[in-house]
Amino acid sequence: MGTVVNIKDEKECIICEKKVEKGIHVCNQLICEKCQEEMIETDVSDVKYNFFIQKLGKLSLTIKEPRVAGEQMLK
Ligand SMILES: [Zn+2]
Repeated sequence: MGTVVNIKDEKECIICEKKVEKGIHVCNQLICEKCQEEMIETDVSDVKYNFFIQKLGKLSLTIKEPRVAGEQMLK
């Protein structure tokens, strides 16, 4: 999932919402290494897994939004 990047400016992790310098970059959104590790270790039956899914749902929403905005601009 994504690539490990070094970011010059601090960015907010979409999972824990903490400002981090290093993490996994997915479509301009950041997931810090700690959260990525946690996600891998979390079992699907764990309550925490749903929390991650919800946060990732937020991510997919932010991916869709710019496309919709672009279509509106063309009209
Ligand atoms: Zn995080």
